[in-house]
Amino acid sequence: MTTIHNLGFPRIGRKRELKFGLEAYWRGETSRAQLLELAQQLRAQNWQLQQGLDWVPVGDFSLYDQVLDMSFTLGNLPARVRGYEGDALDNYFRVARGRSAPSAQSCGCNAGVAAGEMTKWFDTNYHYIVPEFDADTNFSLDASRLIAQLQEAKAQGIKAKPVIIGPVTYLGLGKAKDGSDRLQLLPRLLPVYQQLLQTLADHGAEWVQIDEPLLVTDLDAQWQHAFNLAYHALKTAPVKLLVATYFGTLEDNAYLAANLPVAGLHIDALGGREAVLKVLNLLPPHKVLSLGVISGRNIWKTDLNALLDWLEPLAERLGAQLWLAPSCSLLHVPVDLDSEERMDAEIKSWLAFALQKLGELQILATALRQGRAAVQQALDANRAALQARRQSARVHNPAVAEAVAAIRPEMGQRRSVFAERAVKQAEHMPLPLFPTTTIGSFPQTAEIRQARRDYKSGALDEAGYQAAMRAEIARCVGEQEALGLDVLVHGEAERNDMVEYFGEQLEGYAFSQFGWVQSYGSRCVKPPILFGDIRRPKAMTVEWIRYAQSLTDKPMKGMLTGPVTILNWSFVRDDQPRAQSCRQLALAIREEVLDLEKAGVRVIQIDEAALREGLPLRRSQWQEYLDWAVECFRITANGVADATQIHTHMCYSEFNDIIASIAAMDADVITIETSRSDMELLDAFEHFEYPNAIGPGVYDIHSPNIPTQEHIVALMRKAAERIPAERLWVNPDCGLKTRQWSEVIPALRNMVEAAKTLRAQA
Ligand code: GLN
Ligand code: ZN
Repeated sequence: MTTIHNLGFPRIGRKRELKFGLEAYWRGETSRAQLLELAQQLRAQNWQLQQGLDWVPVGDFSLYDQVLDMSFTLGNLPARVRGYEGDALDNYFRVARGRSAPSAQSCGCNAGVAAGEMTKWFDTNYHYIVPEFDADTNFSLDASRLIAQLQEAKAQGIKAKPVIIGPVTYLGLGKAKDGSDRLQLLPRLLPVYQQLLQTLADHGAEWVQIDEPLLVTDLDAQWQHAFNLAYHALKTAPVKLLVATYFGTLEDNAYLAANLPVAGLHIDALGGREAVLKVLNLLPPHKVLSLGVISGRNIWKTDLNALLDWLEPLAERLGAQLWLAPSCSLLHVPVDLDSEERMDAEIKSWLAFALQKLGELQILATALRQGRAAVQQALDANRAALQARRQSARVHNPAVAEAVAAIRPEMGQRRSVFAERAVKQAEHMPLPLFPTTTIGSFPQTAEIRQARRDYKSGALDEAGYQAAMRAEIARCVGEQEALGLDVLVHGEAERNDMVEYFGEQLEGYAFSQFGWVQSYGSRCVKPPILFGDIRRPKAMTVEWIRYAQSLTDKPMKGMLTGPVTILNWSFVRDDQPRAQSCRQLALAIREEVLDLEKAGVRVIQIDEAALREGLPLRRSQWQEYLDWAVECFRITANGVADATQIHTHMCYSEFNDIIASIAAMDADVITIETSRSDMELLDAFEHFEYPNAIGPGVYDIHSPNIPTQEHIVALMRKAAERIPAERLWVNPDCGLKTRQWSEVIPALRNMVEAAKTLRAQA
């Protein structure tokens, strides 16, 4: 009989209860006991919701991050917080969020602590706290969190399957601060895992899910060997291990994964039946094969009938060895579609969030155990919903298909090369050496957010909202003029979010009310749902920019989000390739670019904050992605006249491996994040002889610190050692929306003064 289980459940809560609980605790408004009580309630609720499964994940819940949890379980705390005598939970949050040094007046007994570095969890939009290692790292077990949760689950009568991160992935996710080889730590790490598994067994665990998603990435021989080493060391553990892989297929790690000495293997089965068959043929017959057949990362209903056609013979062949689950933890999808009261009923009928996905799993299990007839109604309803989606006129717009088919390479080609364009742009818009600008957003104040809430709730009418936003724009333009910036922005007051704002105005997008997904810690995002062919019914930003330009003689930048970023931060269609959806977005944003140009806007910035994020896990797939991503940017941006200056912005600084593609985008100016790297990351541009202009960020907008003029001058001098001064801009690392005006004004004042100093010395 087929077993069904789950790899992990969203922990933030239906209405983001955990977020609000955490933030209240951090503000000091609630007690530690209240926070822990809330966490316990959420776990109990989540287990309750998963009752129908044969195995329910335990230990997947986290107050901040599952990787940080694992670091604490393994006793691998960064040196700077070891020996902390305060509360352990407090120490956990110190690593998670950092703690600024106390001000001079306070006791000074608790110096500041830098937060752990955060990075993307594989190719998802979730971010984890990077484990820190050095050659001397030692590990020691603290299983208290897992034991407590196992006991809670037991008290609730849950069939618990503890979830931990496996040793090789744990090492793989971390960073050796001293440049040492972290694989050397494996012999020290394994005894702690042995102890951990023993402890879990002592507390009643029969199966342990040990996550090794590293197995879906490119591994060299050393790392492959580490898997063998690790699991041979763990094979005497008195529990059954289910090695869980997800976020892609095993490819050349398939033999390795299939033959690890463990009781079961979970694989992502969304990569096609052939890949599954390949693993199945390699798998020793006594092993459990768990197939991740329902997407844990997207929000579409699964085609249950088609899936059963495939699974029925497999179930016959594998019997009790076949397990079914979502492809990965459901952490990456919202909790419950039923919370959506305002969503369009037709679109809603095509979707499944975490709970609905578990429902699908139940239907599959029943069909396999008792025959399809036992769930005929559900299967029929599923078929009808999928059919309706396939045929819906809201999904398919022939005019869009034609426009995409008519894309020609010339559409992505500027008329002249950068050197010639630069001359025309300078005639049109004279700028000093080291021109100053900002990345787009200015502080999103409490008043702005309140006005937007009031507008959405109807308390503020359209005219009132427009007036409030215009007032903010006017304030923002006035401040920038007073500061003496060269190229101004309108400040993005009217934008809730750089993707949602555009999604709301494009046809083919739907929005949820509660479709929150954790991004990191208490931070959640609500990705818009790209369900149909994309069309721009009317201009989206032109009126705001025109208004902002009317307030000043300085050039005003039009501000747009690029197609690749919109795509990468949305739930996307599963009925056509990503590249195709991206081309549709590119055409829509291109129209906006051309409308801005027509309205007299001379500088247009197209943000591609998430371009790098979209890189596939496998190197072999990078080029294909980069090719269509760059093509889409070019279609969007490059239809303008030579005299129109195109900017793009990217929120990172690692360009080494993608610099050729970045250059191929051919933006006149690219602004990037560099302040924390001391400009060293410009090396990639220097070595490539990147031909266009660059604005290397001169201060970190994530920090409330005000950069000094001297610091900015010093950074820009370093930049000028690598890039000719004529092609350098001066700007912050990113948008300023999370900062206070009281921080922004002095910081930008220093930046503008720094630019003057640089000019004077040039
Ligand atoms: N224009 C956006 C802003 O300033 C860019 C932000 C981003 O790229 N993350 O907020
Ligand atoms: Zn940015």
